[in-house]
Amino acid sequence: MKYIDEFRDRNLCLCLIKKMESIMGDSEVTIMEVCGTHTMSIFRSGIRSLLPQSIRLLSGPGCPVCVTPAAYLDHAIALSETEDLIIATFGDMMRVPGSISSLETKRAAGKKIAVVYSPLDALNIARNNPDKKVVFLAVGFETTSPSVAVTAIEAKKMGISNLYFLSAHKRIPPALRLLAEDSELKVDGFILPGHVSTIIGVNTYLFLAEGYGIPSVICGFEPLDILQGICMILYQLKERRAAVEIQYRRVVKNDGNPGAMALLNKVFIEKDSEWRGLGTIANSGYAMGEEYKELDAGEVFRLKERPSVENEGCICGEILKGRKVPNQCPHFGGNCTPYSPLGPCMVSSEGSCAAYYKYG
Ligand code: SF4
Ligand code: SF4
Repeated sequence: MKYIDEFRDRNLCLCLIKKMESIMGDSEVTIMEVCGTHTMSIFRSGIRSLLPQSIRLLSGPGCPVCVTPAAYLDHAIALSETEDLIIATFGDMMRVPGSISSLETKRAAGKKIAVVYSPLDALNIARNNPDKKVVFLAVGFETTSPSVAVTAIEAKKMGISNLYFLSAHKRIPPALRLLAEDSELKVDGFILPGHVSTIIGVNTYLFLAEGYGIPSVICGFEPLDILQGICMILYQLKERRAAVEIQYRRVVKNDGNPGAMALLNKVFIEKDSEWRGLGTIANSGYAMGEEYKELDAGEVFRLKERPSVENEGCICGEILKGRKVPNQCPHFGGNCTPYSPLGPCMVSSEGSCAAYYKYG
């Protein structure tokens, strides 16, 4: 298929649904879509209402905004109080609640917080403001971290000494291991993130099949991609086998993008990292490596570990673990909406609560 409409062809979608019914028989299946963009696409295209009732889809922790803990925001907010310092951030972080405030509130109070579209914009701000320190909020999964690595390399090459990175970068595979080990979750299959996989490839997921016997498929984001991916998981279950398969062959290669991985390994080291709702997961984050320590905002500004304080009553953590769905939250749609969000899952355009609110 070459054109986007073909990936949304209603008749082909219905064919795949029929196929699912014939593969499934009477069995019940729970599948988690790990990535927030999959969640949004599933809602937007109405896939949930088309699927056989015996297939339950759960949203996972695949939105970088949602899993960034309040403590990280607290650090960023504290830094924004520093004289002659500019915070540079992607726009979706602005409204994410820290323990008692948000970047948006701080900007309204006059703090210097610039919304950027890429880490290179932050580099330009640093270059144009040599008398200021610029801290870029480096948030995201393996999809985003290579562009931050490139920017750090570039900053060093150009001798820019007033740009720093506050890294909350996350690695998806360790979070999947945590979910696979969660006895309360009982997921029969994973729809794995398409974009992350273009970077990391297939091998880092093999433990899901080999260690936990969970069928997994890397999927694209169009309705037919997702439906075909679900069919591939159902076939594996029916044939009582578990593998990591690629549905998104037009984009994802077995070995991912070795060039991007080399950049990551040059700039970052793997480190334990705190995920909102999931706690600290071993080796699930990227911190600046030895060679780039002088660009590490955490080191340079001597930021100390601090506990996260979540909004009372917000169950984002349970939702990110797949244990609850958004409309089980007492605040959902009442005092928590995308217009006045209490938690990150309602802030982010890829968050589950926002998806349920908009399309559910
Ligand atoms: S970065 Fe890509 S893989 Fe990750 S949540 Fe967003 S769309 Fe999904
Ligand atoms: S509805 Fe709001 S308060 Fe409830 S879990 Fe979602 S973001 Fe948190």
